[in-house]
Amino acid sequence: MKLQEIKNIDVAGKKVFIRCDFNVPVDEYQNITDDRRIRSALNTIRYCIDNDCAVILASHFGRPKGGTYEEEYSLKPIAKRLHTLLKRDIVMANGIVDDETMQLAKELKSSEVMLLENLRFEKGETKNDEELSKKLASMAEVYINDAFGVSHRAHSSVEGISKYFDIEHKAAGFLLSKEIEFFHHIVHNPKRPFVSIVGGSKVSGKLEALYNLVPKVDKILIGGGMAFTFLKALGEEVGNSLVEDDLMPEALKIMAQAKELGVKIYLPVDVIAAEAFNSEAFAKVVTSKEIPLGWMGLDIGPATSMLFEEALADAHTILWNGPMGVYEMDKFAKGSFKISHAVAKSYATTVVGGGDTADLVRLTGDEEEMTFISTGGGASLELIEGKVLPGVKALIIE
Ligand code: AMP
Repeated sequence: MKLQEIKNIDVAGKKVFIRCDFNVPVDEYQNITDDRRIRSALNTIRYCIDNDCAVILASHFGRPKGGTYEEEYSLKPIAKRLHTLLKRDIVMANGIVDDETMQLAKELKSSEVMLLENLRFEKGETKNDEELSKKLASMAEVYINDAFGVSHRAHSSVEGISKYFDIEHKAAGFLLSKEIEFFHHIVHNPKRPFVSIVGGSKVSGKLEALYNLVPKVDKILIGGGMAFTFLKALGEEVGNSLVEDDLMPEALKIMAQAKELGVKIYLPVDVIAAEAFNSEAFAKVVTSKEIPLGWMGLDIGPATSMLFEEALADAHTILWNGPMGVYEMDKFAKGSFKISHAVAKSYATTVVGGGDTADLVRLTGDEEEMTFISTGGGASLELIEGKVLPGVKALIIE
């Protein structure tokens, strides 16, 4: 699979529409708390500015109702941050993609940067509406997708729009290319032993990825809430822990397939169990076989952290998606922190995917030690599942 890349098309002096993923976290005062997604897009934006392009940037942000402008979801704070990072004025669109916005885009000159308002103010965006795709496409001569985080969604600005450009006039931005290349390499050519750590709340969201991982990896370490579906399927009493009963047969199937292929699956041998799902709840370490009735496992225990650390020791590639416990509460964050440190300490190629896990390694201070932190959670899981992302399909040359 080869992607059309921005450096292989002629963008010089052209009007370029760049779909970015500026869906950053903000606090209650609309302050951006982590601008990594904005900074990750700068390479592509600067490349276009250096090539005298007129640059139109577009992104979604949060979950507005759609159909109208909502101040709470405005991209104005992003425009400010872009202004600081790029050290140049940003032309900000007023609201939805109306005549005024179209006029602003039309008048945009070489080396100027314009930011459209939140694409999800347009009802058609998430419906991949043809009218909207066409309108967005008409703004520019070149389309660049640099929004890895939404490339698994068939939305107007991600998929629909790309149909209006031929392959000489559309491409993947630097960030998208890097993400796709990395995951492709990891999934198809990993240095072994290849160990995958999977956690988070639900098996359902990661089932396809697990199926796809089993034939590719040497070991899978399962933590987080999803471990309890596996433990219960094996006949353990898991109390009130998070369980998806209907997926127990699938969990058994995954374990049987792993056994057949000689892939080792590690499950927690102990957990931090609590009487209730809150940080004040009474909590204690118990073995996975002794979770009291009515209690719930909210983190992996110390023995499991040690076990997982040992299993990671010989890894040459580590792929991590999903925290080991409810890391948002200090009391249940230890397991995730220990695993983060173990991954960071390792000499393996380490890839962290998923918003929560990326957030976690920032909290643990291990961010710099990881080889690659993906900006997209759902998108990276779909790549592992072996799917071709809708936003990427139109950019493939061979
Ligand atoms: P996901 O979005 O599936 O990656 O799940 C991330 C969420 O899983 C985080 O918000 C964690 O708090 C949650 N989580 C991790 N372990 C557990 C657990 N044992 N019980 C309930 N939730 C958990």
